[in-house]
Amino acid sequence: MRIKFWGTRGTRPTPGRRTLRYGGNTTCIEVRGSKEQLLILDSGSGIAELGASLAEDRSRDYHLLISHTHWDHIQGFPFFGPAFVHGTRVTVVGPAGSIKSLQSAFADQMDPAYFPLRLDQVPAELEFIEVPAGQPLEMAGMTITPYELNHPIVTLGYRIQEGGRTFCFATDNELLPGDAVRPITDWCRGADLLVHDAQYSEGEYPSHAGWGHSTFDDALSLAEDAGVRQLAFFHHDPLHSDDEIDALVEEALGNHRQRRAGRVLAFPAAEDQEIVL
Ligand SMILES: [Zn+2]
Ligand SMILES: [Zn+2]
Repeated sequence: MRIKFWGTRGTRPTPGRRTLRYGGNTTCIEVRGSKEQLLILDSGSGIAELGASLAEDRSRDYHLLISHTHWDHIQGFPFFGPAFVHGTRVTVVGPAGSIKSLQSAFADQMDPAYFPLRLDQVPAELEFIEVPAGQPLEMAGMTITPYELNHPIVTLGYRIQEGGRTFCFATDNELLPGDAVRPITDWCRGADLLVHDAQYSEGEYPSHAGWGHSTFDDALSLAEDAGVRQLAFFHHDPLHSDDEIDALVEEALGNHRQRRAGRVLAFPAAEDQEIVL
């Protein structure tokens, strides 16, 4: 399995010199299976560049998993080039039971007041599927287990398995102490890679409690408890520069080195970075 980050930023696109290394596009990840089959996670602004990279692609059959419909996770869809090519099929999967239907959330952001083309005018054949947490599904030759995360609206994490490799994607999740953490530990246990929300420093968290995001420290504790091999800190705060992210990662790793032998390879997710599992 191969993972490529096209957008790692949370909340809003954050271009500029201070975010060059970890990137300014909002969330989007390319997942390739052993037969090069493609899964796309989230359609933040990063999906525009991913779409451009698919210009020569012949498959024309795309599977897009959406964590939730907050703007930073869907805003790139109107700029996903393959959707504007006749004969393309895009299957969009997202959480059931959210505040409005998955299709309405996508359609509303393409209302004529905001965008020149309506969703129903997009040339590609689109299908929207809402799925509950806990029920595994097969897609693009991979087994996907959705898990309900802790966020202000219904949000799914996805455990993706193929060819003996496991990748867990959990953005926009607020880890809480005690029991609430335990089911997610089982869900991501033994993953080869966990991509997890790490928006706040320990100092910033108290004034953002309940906003649905985690600290670097809590993400690392989860990865250690679950015995994952690699952890990518994700959903970088727009206010954090690359250098500040480096400092926050060092601080979290330092805290953990003192407490126990950290065996997790932990790093901040960077736009354009590719990881082979
Ligand atoms: Zn977000
Ligand atoms: Zn969100």
